Amino acid sequence: MIFICDLMLGRLSKYLRMLGLNAPCAKSPGPPDTGEHAEEPPYFFTKRLGGPRYERTIHIRSDRIMEQLGEIRHIIVPHIRPDAIMSRCIECNVPLFSTSRENIEHYVPEYVYHHHAEFKQCPSCKKVYWGGSHTEKMRKWIDEITEAHG
Ligand SMILES: [Zn+2]
Repeated sequence: MIFICDLMLGRLSKYLRMLGLNAPCAKSPGPPDTGEHAEEPPYFFTKRLGGPRYERTIHIRSDRIMEQLGEIRHIIVPHIRPDAIMSRCIECNVPLFSTSRENIEHYVPEYVYHHHAEFKQCPSCKKVYWGGSHTEKMRKWIDEITEAHG
């Protein structure tokens, strides 16, 4: 399933990516062109009221990220796979690949290099992720959202 976020929901799209969901940002303000995803039409999360009708448009009311996630929790939770959490670049929305320490030495702070053994990297922007790159707070939030309705 694809969860397209309009341009005003950039922060929401990053949170969805953190959960491992495929959450691209819309390239244009209108609803998505479903032609290429005819079998499983994407959801379209938007702040805009009105505009062209699209069946799977979900209007997001709140401006606060945690409330926005609450509004769509029932939609996204069935699509969250535990093994996919934190497997996607939150900037680029592409799956990360595992890489060895030697390959990322120049991309991470020295203490990170020395204190972690498992690293993942984004093939697009080269950003490196490691065990501690998501804060405790994020972990807690992810546990909450997945446990509450999982
Ligand atoms: Zn990236």
